[in-house]
Amino acid sequence: MEVKKIIVVGAGQMGSGIAQVCAQAGFTIVLHDIDGERTAKGLATISKNITRQTEKGRLTETEKEQILQRITLSTDLENARDSDLVIEAATENMSIKKTIFQQLDKITSRKTILATNTSSLPITEIAAVTERPEKVIGMHFMNPVPVMKLVEIIRGLATSDSTYATIHEVTLKLQKTPVEVEDYPGFISNRILMPMINEAIYALYEGVATKEAIDEIMKLGMNHPMGPLTLADFIGLDTCLYIMETLHEGFGDDKYRPCPLLKKMVSAGWLGKKTGKGFYTYN
Ligand code: NAD
Repeated sequence: MEVKKIIVVGAGQMGSGIAQVCAQAGFTIVLHDIDGERTAKGLATISKNITRQTEKGRLTETEKEQILQRITLSTDLENARDSDLVIEAATENMSIKKTIFQQLDKITSRKTILATNTSSLPITEIAAVTERPEKVIGMHFMNPVPVMKLVEIIRGLATSDSTYATIHEVTLKLQKTPVEVEDYPGFISNRILMPMINEAIYALYEGVATKEAIDEIMKLGMNHPMGPLTLADFIGLDTCLYIMETLHEGFGDDKYRPCPLLKKMVSAGWLGKKTGKGFYTYN
């Protein structure tokens, strides 16, 4: 199946990045959110990123204008009607995602593939609220989307081979590398990454070291490009907490219990870079 038009649902940090790389790869894009301010902010971020590429000589002014012209903004999900592919990147919450998929199942043509960028939620469970589970798939981009090469492709129990093949091909067109995984909590990336971040938060909570020391040790000692607490701020502490809860519930194993400090910071609205405050403070 040939994909030409894509609607990205959720215009937060991931959705705007996904819309950018899709528009740069030549797809026609609708960037949708329930909140019009988020779509406007998403487009402003895309425009800023592309302008930077133009300044560095990687894109011409004409290419920049063409990319931006491929993107339209939406706050009405009816705009998904003629899309070949939906990439959902709304808040990491099962009930929000199920509602969106039920609505998309009614609005879009039966041929439309419904992909989710969830970090950890079961694809099979999301697919089960639709009447086309064979066309539902996980397409897990990494943050920041324009920079990171990996897309983890997650097959739900009912995902068809042809859906997988289409998403594999779209991912290659985005100049990304698709890696296939099965549908178990946290897939591979977050099953390994999140317990490490949670353990770093426990080390801070228990007073083993300062936040700067924890980050420095992992950067210099393990050659990680950024420390786990900085990375948690970039991912969003709400997203980190939600993923830990998903692992905890999904495996029923207390080794995945989220650190009380993480819970407390999320309750305070300290969600990391996106709110200006997390483990560190941002302007
Ligand atoms: P975010 O908070 O920046 O953005 C979420 C957006 O979803 C918000 O703009 C919100 O208004 C919108 N939204 C909420 N309900 C909606 C609805 N019903 N319809 C349309 N839009 C709705 O979050 P994010 O970091 O961009 O994460 C989005 C998704 O991507 C989550 O599933 C998350 O797990 C996943 N993800 C995040 C990262 C990361 O590093 N942050 C990495 C990979 C995957």
